[in-house]
Amino acid sequence: MAHAEQAGGANAGCWGPEPGADPRVLTAWAALAGVMDPEIPVLSVVDLGIVRSVVRDDDGGGDGGGDGRLAVTVTVTPTYSGCPATGVIVLEVETALARAGLDATVRVVIAPPWTTDWISETGRAKLAEVGIVPPPAAGKRALTAPQEAIACPLCGSTDTAQISRFGSTACKALHRCNACLEPFDVFKCH
Ligand SMILES: [Zn+2]
Repeated sequence: MAHAEQAGGANAGCWGPEPGADPRVLTAWAALAGVMDPEIPVLSVVDLGIVRSVVRDDDGGGDGGGDGRLAVTVTVTPTYSGCPATGVIVLEVETALARAGLDATVRVVIAPPWTTDWISETGRAKLAEVGIVPPPAAGKRALTAPQEAIACPLCGSTDTAQISRFGSTACKALHRCNACLEPFDVFKCH
């Protein structure tokens, strides 16, 4: 109990239920794993790392809502403050939790800001499968190197160039491979 707050501190990117978590908390995480990001439909909000925490609330205590509903508080950090999808995500999170029989309070927290480092390993693998270049993992990105070579998801060539700061959505940039001439999306790092 005393150490619960430390989870996810140093190894950011792996948000999820702690071992031995309360069944209600596990139910919430399972429901959240089915909420897909509107902009990248192959990734759930859990894959993206935008669900920061799920906490079990006391039932029928403070607000007396009762009715046998199972209260939880879910903290979410939007991927990108400019993303119009944020409101949609919060709504979908609320809906999924309600469908799972939970009485959820969704808190949106913008600090610390979401970074692509929070995308889970599963999320990175799914991105690669659909041809979106996953962002470099934490630690592999030197702050002094602004633009590291980005490999083409189709042919693997690193002879690529950014052709637009905005890809299919504001959160992605459009790049093109000079070898196979194929355009592809790259996640912007924040
Ligand atoms: Zn290529």
